[in-house]
Amino acid sequence: MKRAMQCVILVAFCATAAGRETTSVQYLANEGVMITHGDTKILFDPLFDNSYNRYRLVPDKMRDAIFAGQAPYDGVDAVFISHSHGDHFSASEVVRLLRERQQILLYTPAQAVAEMRQIATPDDEAIFERVTTFDIEYGDTPVFVRQDGLLIEALCIPHAGWPTARTDVQNITFRVTLEDASTVLHLGDADARLVHFEQDEAYWDERQIDLALPPYWFFLSEDGREILDDRVHARNSVGIHVPAQFSEDPSSMPGELLGEDLFHQPGEGRRFTGTQ
Ligand SMILES: [Zn+2]
Repeated sequence: MKRAMQCVILVAFCATAAGRETTSVQYLANEGVMITHGDTKILFDPLFDNSYNRYRLVPDKMRDAIFAGQAPYDGVDAVFISHSHGDHFSASEVVRLLRERQQILLYTPAQAVAEMRQIATPDDEAIFERVTTFDIEYGDTPVFVRQDGLLIEALCIPHAGWPTARTDVQNITFRVTLEDASTVLHLGDADARLVHFEQDEAYWDERQIDLALPPYWFFLSEDGREILDDRVHARNSVGIHVPAQFSEDPSSMPGELLGEDLFHQPGEGRRFTGTQ
């Protein structure tokens, strides 16, 4: 039954495909996802070890397959880290991944690299050659990087809790276009206030987002919804960072989330068509 329901969702997302190559997203857990378009495969926030007794962890079988580079995690081109909190990033696990999967490039805030440096050995120097560090702060202009098959655009948006809490966290939002076809926006733990997105209007107007992956709290406020619809121009949005309790006991889920598309279960997925 569950499989049948997923198929219905996939068909709905594919309705506009009309022969164009589709892009797929597979949910890992919390804010971890894999995006695939053609031969290009990327992971966001895939390795972390703290659930804070609230969020789902990536199942062991999936994690093992990521480290081993086994299908569907074979041929991963790049990994993106939004910020260095324990429910998004584990320094030791990311270092291990770079040691074991030598074709993977890493895009990450400087704060996460600092943690990786602390546990790396002199033998690990080579892995840091595959790391692109974003040392950007709130208010800085967006940064652009090109890699084979990928256009990577990074902008620092404050972590939720702004302006009173967690203001020292480098939270990077990545807008990534795969094979000049599909654009995905991963917001990390961005604060859902309009003011953060009004500052870079030209940047956000430059490209339509085919799939936005906001933390679920974007659906809880008018600002969050306006950001997705009118500021970042998201055609599809699927909420992430959803507490496990929302699916275990649906009555605990805030009413504003009813009818919204959310990722709950590791392994579930969607397909969509790029418009770039
Ligand atoms: Zn966080």
